[in-house]
Amino acid sequence: MQISESKRLFAHAKNFIPGGVNSPVRAFRAVGGDPIFIKRADGAFIYDEDDNAYIELINSWGPMILGHNHPMIREAVIAAMDNGTSFGAPTAREVEIAELIVSMVPSVEKVRMVNSGTEATMSAIRVARGYTGRDKFIKMEGHYHGHGDSFLIAAGSGAITMGHPDSPGVTEGTAKDTLLAPYNDLEAIERLVEANRGEIAALILEPVPGNMGLTLPLPGYLAGLREICTREGIILIFDEVMTGFRLAKGGAQELFGVTPDMTTLGKIIGGGMPVGAYGGKKEIMEFVSPAGPVYQAGTLSGNPIAMAAGLTMLNYLNSHPEVYTRLNEIGMQIASGMASINHRFGHDFTINQLGSMYSLFFTEDAVTDFESAKKSDTLLFGKYFQAMLHRGIYLAPSQYESLFLSTALTDDLVGKILQAHEESIKEILS
Ligand SMILES: *Cc1c(COP(=O)(O)O)cnc(C)c1O
Repeated sequence: MQISESKRLFAHAKNFIPGGVNSPVRAFRAVGGDPIFIKRADGAFIYDEDDNAYIELINSWGPMILGHNHPMIREAVIAAMDNGTSFGAPTAREVEIAELIVSMVPSVEKVRMVNSGTEATMSAIRVARGYTGRDKFIKMEGHYHGHGDSFLIAAGSGAITMGHPDSPGVTEGTAKDTLLAPYNDLEAIERLVEANRGEIAALILEPVPGNMGLTLPLPGYLAGLREICTREGIILIFDEVMTGFRLAKGGAQELFGVTPDMTTLGKIIGGGMPVGAYGGKKEIMEFVSPAGPVYQAGTLSGNPIAMAAGLTMLNYLNSHPEVYTRLNEIGMQIASGMASINHRFGHDFTINQLGSMYSLFFTEDAVTDFESAKKSDTLLFGKYFQAMLHRGIYLAPSQYESLFLSTALTDDLVGKILQAHEESIKEILS
């Protein structure tokens, strides 16, 4: 496999773009080597600048649930373009997508469109603070909510102590209002609530976290959080930027039957265009400007081209429940296929899978939170990543990511993925 053009572009890019990429995970820092530059994508495949084809298991980090360059979405975008690319004024399509989101996502009674998942989570926290008149919020160790200052807080030791900034540029003043808790541990939440009673505006989490590798909620955990938040007047926010419209048409909240007060959305919602959204209970969302006092705005929010792509995507998912049946099937085929291959090589590595999301961890211990995720052998993951890449399988270049399946994967392609997995496991263990 020749990848000279990607190498050349990357070397050149580093002169003009910090680290050569516009988002850090795209660099292959965690796995070694240079990133692949992509020229085009179609269906289950992406193609690099040297015209190598790869089977896609990232799918733009989630949005491309129907595979790349879907004709239906492409045509909707082209049709919308005929009428101009941006107006900065209300459009019919925004009303249509808002109504559709409200009908699909259980917790959402009113919704505001933004341009990214980061904007959605930043705004949701602001609204929760404005609504409750409280400053602090709880976030889970290892959960990612975009790059807003107050979310970039490292996993500190004592959960009751204040968080510390994870990145230079985030002030201690900002960090002190972010309280950290381990995922899947209700007792830890009770202790935090006890120590900060009446001061906590919100609890935000990925209900099914994908940003420390896929990790599943233990039975009763989400319902337990719901109970505590209701009791304490804390706004429960599900960050479903990743899981929304993916685990079910109504996201993890539909699948687990637990309804938060607010929800943040992104990724799939834009059909591949830059879109995010936050929504929730009417009385909370009525606090958002201009209905209420909490300011939040966006020049390109509800952009007509982006709304055309998103609306087409959501309408399709809303009217085609078989998408989720098929995705579950593919997810289970891949997870069980990999498990039996690993077993044959004498390693029962942990595979977490739910629907069209999965992560293979290079540890045999259960992975249920950030601490246990960190037990994975990341050096071995790096070797596995390279071995798969050279067999034409494009994985996320980090152990601490979920992979995302699309309906473009045929049984034949699933077979190819499993064959590449078998060869790669054999190579890296020998
Ligand atoms: C991707 C992601 C975000 C951030 O979204 P961007 O569009 O990258 O800003 C926030 N929360 C979760 C759970 C995500 O997966």
